[in-house]
Amino acid sequence: MKRVHNFNAGPSAMPLSVLQEVQAEFLDYAGTGMSVIEMSHRSDSYQTLQAETETLLRDLLHIPKDYHIVFMQGGGSMQFVMHALNFLHCRGGYINTGVWSDKAMKAAAAFGEVYEVASTKAEGFTHIPRVLPQAIKAQTDYIYLTSNNTIHGTQWQTYPQVDIPLFGDLSSDFLSRPIPISQFDLIFAGAQKNIGPAGVVVGIIKDTLLDKAKRDIPDMLRYDTYVKHHSVYNTPPVFCIYFIYKVLQWVQQQGGVEKIAQRNKEKADMIYEVIDQSNGFYRGHADIQSRSVMNITFHLATPELEKMFLQASLQNNMIGLKGHRLLGGCRASLYNAVTEESCASLATFMKSFQQAH
Ligand SMILES: *Cc1c(COP(=O)(O)O)cnc(C)c1O
Repeated sequence: MKRVHNFNAGPSAMPLSVLQEVQAEFLDYAGTGMSVIEMSHRSDSYQTLQAETETLLRDLLHIPKDYHIVFMQGGGSMQFVMHALNFLHCRGGYINTGVWSDKAMKAAAAFGEVYEVASTKAEGFTHIPRVLPQAIKAQTDYIYLTSNNTIHGTQWQTYPQVDIPLFGDLSSDFLSRPIPISQFDLIFAGAQKNIGPAGVVVGIIKDTLLDKAKRDIPDMLRYDTYVKHHSVYNTPPVFCIYFIYKVLQWVQQQGGVEKIAQRNKEKADMIYEVIDQSNGFYRGHADIQSRSVMNITFHLATPELEKMFLQASLQNNMIGLKGHRLLGGCRASLYNAVTEESCASLATFMKSFQQAH
């Protein structure tokens, strides 16, 4: 079996042991004589699985009792629509830190007034901005932020304290570090970066927020439909939720989210160290204090050199290092399942490529 060093930005690396377990159980789930994708979503077997998934997630992230956990479909992009459809009455304030928050704000504009509370767009999204209280207009329904900017490689180190509901897109750093849940009213995360296959989005919603939702919107697009029906209003993405359960168990075996966060930091440090000690051969995109632990973005001196770097990386069994088309350059995504060994190999490769050029 050939496995690559996988630095894909999403969908991305999953823990090998989870993939193997899923494979082993695929034909006969827990002695039922069927695959998990062949059973009713209302069966006891499935209902138990989903309930355990929720419980484990609640434990691992210390999610308080007054927050609901839901599983939705449509990806992060559907959330760009749903959060505003449900909660934008007057105006929504957006902290624009990259492509994804920009898209969320544009999608939300269909439902009311949107404005930038802060933005680093003019500076090429190189850092996380400060949020000034006076930038928040009266009658703002919520403040929206993107926790980790997958494309530009920046990440909030601590979240802003605001006294109106805070919404967070945590798609690309969910489960990678502890989350101060109670600072948020709504959190969502598409699964395919850190926790499972594309096709499911985890939502964490404060109970008191639900009362603020609009009434005249379709059931399928209402958060409280998912809450009331425990995410089985219609057929949920059963395979994805099952897979998440396996990943959560793996996180628990690794010592929990706190331990994972420490490992992720060490992994990212290996690569940032190479960048910082390269005398400008590798140039990081993000300002040092805003650097992401998940997505490391950098350039080489010329596009030709970058091309050679990417070609050489492929020969070294490393994939996914090409930067997003909007930013160019290179990007190494070091999600939870990317091993220390893969990171060490990348660091070694980067150093020897520099020496050779
Ligand atoms: C990938 C990503 C998205 C988009 O997710 P889709 O599931 O493709 O819609 C949204 N936000 C962030 C931060 C992402 O990294």
